[in-house]
Parts: sequence; structure tokens; C-alpha cells
Amino acid sequence: MVTDGGDDSLAASGLHRMELDEAGANPERIAAAIHNAIGDCPGPVPVQDIARTLDIFDIREQNLHGLEGALVTSPERPDGLILVNRRSSRPRRRFTIAHELGHFLMVHHVMVEATGFRCRNRDMGAASPGPKTSSEDRHLRQEAEANRFAIELLAPRPRLRPLLNRLPDLARVLEISKTFAISKEAAARRYVELHHASLAVLFLHRGKVVYLHKGNDFPWLAIGKGQTLPGHAETRPGLSDIYDADPTDWLDRAGPLGLQVQVLGQEGDRAIVLLHADTLADPDDDPEIDDTFDRFTQGRR
Ligand SMILES: [Zn+2]
Repeated sequence: MVTDGGDDSLAASGLHRMELDEAGANPERIAAAIHNAIGDCPGPVPVQDIARTLDIFDIREQNLHGLEGALVTSPERPDGLILVNRRSSRPRRRFTIAHELGHFLMVHHVMVEATGFRCRNRDMGAASPGPKTSSEDRHLRQEAEANRFAIELLAPRPRLRPLLNRLPDLARVLEISKTFAISKEAAARRYVELHHASLAVLFLHRGKVVYLHKGNDFPWLAIGKGQTLPGHAETRPGLSDIYDADPTDWLDRAGPLGLQVQVLGQEGDRAIVLLHADTLADPDDDPEIDDTFDRFTQGRR
């Protein structure tokens, strides 16, 4: 059994699989129901203890060839065994455990083989393919749901709120990664999805875009996978300042938008780039006129 800063008090928390039935099949609601049951827990979410309390009888770290994780169970899910790739980092192993627990709790997930689920590295990044029905689409949808459950469990939105009420900044992404013991990549995706501003994040390796993740109505980007950053954007190690970029360099149809860019250079020649698209103030939109109008209309009510 792997330990990870456990919390034995979970056994007495009232967390039980039957209590999660009301959450139905929705991944976010199941994760939220777990947090409701265990209450406030500062620091990284005790994912291993949660799994054990919910009938995962063992979590084993092994050399898994070509896999990040696996769940050994049966269609009725009486209990389960989670296998995790021991060569992955701790944040990745935590995500994998949460992902496999998602397959275990979402009993509508159809097992991919006789003994359960086998999940590859690329499954851990799967996003929903849309409402199609082929078996490959079903597989992708199940993987995407397990990922939605995992991030909601590991970085629950109520605990993120104080970090989301501030101006977009990759420093907050680093804070999320550290506080919740999730990878910087997972933290960055979570941040752009939940922040009210229009954000996107690019993940680079050796100066080229590996993939991008867009949040809230972010406009189409003019750059894509395999391309380098436009202009003179650099990816030096460490966290850059936030700077104004020319939106026409980065966006397909820039329109009346401003664009702010911030870069986090990482080890291994990797980088995370945060983009913030902001509507420019209309020069014809004089706030004094609005004030006068407001006073005038309020006086007539
Ligand atoms: Zn999976």
C-alpha cells in the first residue's frame, strides 16, 4: 500500500459510496459530494485515503509499460485495485489515482477489457469528443469524464475561488500547483477554465507549441501545434513579467482586443505561456456621459 500523507480520520467522516449515489453520473457532482462528506481539508486533497475509504483495497506503484494507470475491478464494482506508473512524478501519480477512482465510481463506464480499465498517458489529457456513439468516441468520453472527476477532486472549485478573483497571472498557477500537489500543466488548464477572464494557455517544448487549452470564449489563435511563438516572445527560465503583445501576431481575427502575455520557462526546455484577451475600451464610450445618464434616469424613477 502506498502512503501519501494520509488522514485516518476520513474513515469516520461519513464518506461512503452509497452517499454518492445522489450525485448521479456527473463527474463534477460526484467529486463535490466527496468534498461535502469529508469537509474542509487544508493542503493537498488526500486522494489515496479517499480511494481507500471508497472501496479501493490497494494502490500499487509498478512499472507499467505504455500505461499511466489501471483499475482492476468488475462491472458491478464491488471493490477495486488501482495500479500507478511508478516512474511518473508525484503530481501525475496523484492525478492518475483520481482518474482511476473516477472510472471506479462512474459505474456507467464500460470496462475496456475483462479485468477493468487500462489508461495511457494520452488518456489523462482527453477532452470530451462530443455526443457521438462509436466505441472510440465512447472511450474518449469515458476518459474525459474520468479527467473531469480527477481535477474536480484534486482542485475543488470552492477552494480555488480566492485565487480566481485576482487578475490573471501564472504566479497563481504555481500557487495552485503547489497547494494542491497537481502538475503545473493541470493547474494551468484548471486556471484558464475557471477564471472569469478570457484566457488561453500554450504548452511548449523546445520552443514549439505541443498543445493549447482555451478557456472562456478565447478567440481563435493564429498559431497552432508545432509552431513557434510569434514576434520576439522568449521562453527564458522562470516567470516573466506580464506584457502587452500585438494581438494581430497571435490571434486569427484580433478585432478590438488587447492581448497580454506571460511566460513560465521550465526545466527540460519546456514552457507554459498564458494569454489574456481583453476587450479594449471604446474611445467613444465616455464614462462621464454614462454617469450623467444614470443620474438623470435615477432622478425620474
Ligand atoms: Zn482512464
